[in-house]
Amino acid sequence: MQQFISLLDTSTMVLMSAILFFSLTGVLTYTYFYRKTYPGFGSFTLGQLAWCVGLFLIFFRVLGPDPSLIIGNSLIFLQGILWYRGIALYGGIDHIGLRNSFTIALAVLCESCLLYYTFVDFDTCRRVFVFSTYCMLVYGRIAIEPFVVRNWRTYSMQTVFSGFLFFISVSYAFRANESLDALQCALGGPDPIVKTLLLASMLLIPLLAFCLLSMTSGRVEAELREARDALRKQAQTDFLTGLPNRRHFLHLAEKALDRARERGEPVSFIMLDLDYFKDINDTYGHQTGDVVLRAVARRLAEALRDGDEIGRLGGEEFGVLLPGLDGKDAEEVAERLRQAVAALSPGGHTVTASLGMASGATGLNALLARADGCLYAAKGAGRNRVVAQACPMVESPEGASI
Ligand code: GH3
Ligand code: MG
Ligand code: MG
Repeated sequence: MQQFISLLDTSTMVLMSAILFFSLTGVLTYTYFYRKTYPGFGSFTLGQLAWCVGLFLIFFRVLGPDPSLIIGNSLIFLQGILWYRGIALYGGIDHIGLRNSFTIALAVLCESCLLYYTFVDFDTCRRVFVFSTYCMLVYGRIAIEPFVVRNWRTYSMQTVFSGFLFFISVSYAFRANESLDALQCALGGPDPIVKTLLLASMLLIPLLAFCLLSMTSGRVEAELREARDALRKQAQTDFLTGLPNRRHFLHLAEKALDRARERGEPVSFIMLDLDYFKDINDTYGHQTGDVVLRAVARRLAEALRDGDEIGRLGGEEFGVLLPGLDGKDAEEVAERLRQAVAALSPGGHTVTASLGMASGATGLNALLARADGCLYAAKGAGRNRVVAQACPMVESPEGASI
């Protein structure tokens, strides 16, 4: 391995890295301007640009030996600051200025040391030490903080991203340590650690850019999923009572009926309608009517078992599907629901309900029509009661639309 590394030409490697990083900066810049990104992405992109220009200057010294080195080092320090800022913004961290000021202070301190060891006490090993220590601390911080700071949000690929940066940080720690004992250090190589770092960065930088893009697209996808789920919920829920609306309830009831049929279980359907509800609206106002509807819906939902389905069929009418129950058992449930409504006094008003019930594993349309017939009979018999005997079917146009 060592022999292979010694064969590599540092200048060519640096040129290749700089070109590679530059083209990746182009990809990030395009994404920043033309695709959905999040706060922090711009900092990452600028950081990447600073890095590739800095790397190029350090090795090719196109501005003269010392200025190239100083500006190149500063740009790489700037990259650390920008990446830290980027990852913190991305993680939704508050007080970024305060956190970032530590990185900036470290950069200023290290830059001062570099100037000192360049112009006052010329010492390349000390320069390598200072530079490597800065990189070790800042990349290590970027890698670790998302997982240890409270409320720092992490996204898909964050672990991989941090893993790569941690590897870079450890490599710099190694380099800092080597430079402490060395008598002579070559800033731009050909020392093997520099070459290994260059080789590793050629592998890692594209992967880091990929992680960044993947973290961004993963976040976009998560937001789209959340928006889709919220819309779906909204489309399925009755706004006033929070129960499934008619369409969704009938869908749930159909599925529950299918399951019961497969298991050979009986099913019962209850249709519940509040009595003289129009009078409540007319006497106390629509808002009071809404309060009553909400209270009744909550109470009915509480009174049911897991696996029962309830929904608002419309107006002051509710549907309940009871899988696994028929005959007397289902009638008892209906009676319990009637009593639960009668025991309520929402806003100080009494309210009663009439219930029609039908059993059997026939189709949902037929169940609904029979329950509707029983409800009609309950109303005719004086209201505030359950009717569950064989009733004439009521073929409602609504039933036909199921
Ligand atoms: P019955 O005992 O025969 O069922 O009489 P009822 O007054 O309950 O029945 P009717 O069908 O005459 O009136 C139903 C009323 O329900 C009329 C309508 O204003 C009211 N209603 C329907 N939806 C809502 C709603 O979302 N909020 C309120 N406050 N009232 C509603
Ligand atoms: Mg009514
Ligand atoms: Mg009604």
